[in-house]
Amino acid sequence: MKKRVFLDNAATTPIAPEIIELISDMMKTHFANPSSIHSYGRESKIVVENARKTIANLLNTSPGSIFFTSGGTEADNMAIKCAIQDHKIKHAITSKLSHHAVLYPLEDLASENKIKLSYIDIDKNGVISLSHLEKLLLNNERTFVSIMHANNEIGTIQPLKDIGDICKQYNAIFHSDTVQTMAHYSFDMQELNVDFMAASAHKFHGPKGIGFVYISEDIQINPLLRGGGQERNMRAGTENIYGIAAMAKAMEMAYENLEEETNYIKGLKKYMIYKLKSEIEDVQFYGKCTDLEESLYTVLSCNFPENKNSEMLMFNLDIKGVACSGGSACSSGSSKGSHVLTALDPESSRPGVRFSFSKYNTKEDIDFAIDQLKELV
Ligand code: PLP
Repeated sequence: MKKRVFLDNAATTPIAPEIIELISDMMKTHFANPSSIHSYGRESKIVVENARKTIANLLNTSPGSIFFTSGGTEADNMAIKCAIQDHKIKHAITSKLSHHAVLYPLEDLASENKIKLSYIDIDKNGVISLSHLEKLLLNNERTFVSIMHANNEIGTIQPLKDIGDICKQYNAIFHSDTVQTMAHYSFDMQELNVDFMAASAHKFHGPKGIGFVYISEDIQINPLLRGGGQERNMRAGTENIYGIAAMAKAMEMAYENLEEETNYIKGLKKYMIYKLKSEIEDVQFYGKCTDLEESLYTVLSCNFPENKNSEMLMFNLDIKGVACSGGSACSSGSSKGSHVLTALDPESSRPGVRFSFSKYNTKEDIDFAIDQLKELV
């Protein structure tokens, strides 16, 4: 079979074999609806509640603050739409680097004249300006702030603790899209002033279609989806039991070996930076990508000289067996290109390429990718 390497782990990660086994076992044994009151149903309910406890323990929070969703998009939409509507918010702040799961619901509300939407200043690396945040919050109206923890395209990390502290000082509601960092970094919810956080299992070797929203106990909202009384009336719909159990297990596995796996992946990224710099002419890196401590260690985002078309480069790399991405997977196919790269540098015509790593990658994968790349740029 032709050799292929998968360096697109920010789009999604391979499901861990232990998780596949768990899902397939559970599908045989736990088919019952967790809302059913008979013994079958009660067994399914226990699985759901144990998963909630596991996740809550890992985040040092109470199980009551974890609500299962269909993934990161739903978690973001729920936080944004419900908090803004239920708290009668008239002003929201985000960054142009936010994922579309955040930008689109906010822009929809702004275009319906329900809110005024402000974009926070960013520096050349995509880091937000804390002084601009304070300035935007000065006008005393209750504000909704949505700043992602790490950007999925360029790996820029924002100072979550500082942003939360400022939001608290100004009584603003703070939502953070932590889809790229959950189970990759540790979070102590007792330390962070965050009201909402979004997570998605497929970014940490769990299955697709399952995620959760953390909702601080200090804030109340009404549900986005109405119907049955699942998730304590906060998210209607029969629970995805296998997904929920698998997500909790994937998160547990990630946190069991967090330091070791982080260092391993950082080593791969460092190696790829070295190889790119030494073997490819005129490569440039986005944001703080080459700083292993100050950027998302799973993401390496770079660009190549202007004469190469990004789509063509991606296409040719794919033909040669290297799976990577030209931005986010969600925006691929869009004729507009990456809104993140455009926000960083509207003038640039250099093709952006994102390589992203997981614990299943090896140095050989990187050697292979560099060899293919050398033939193309
Ligand atoms: N937010 C970020 C930063 C992401 O990278 C993604 C997925 O790519 C999402 C939200 C959406 O998550 P999901 O695919 O679970 O809906």
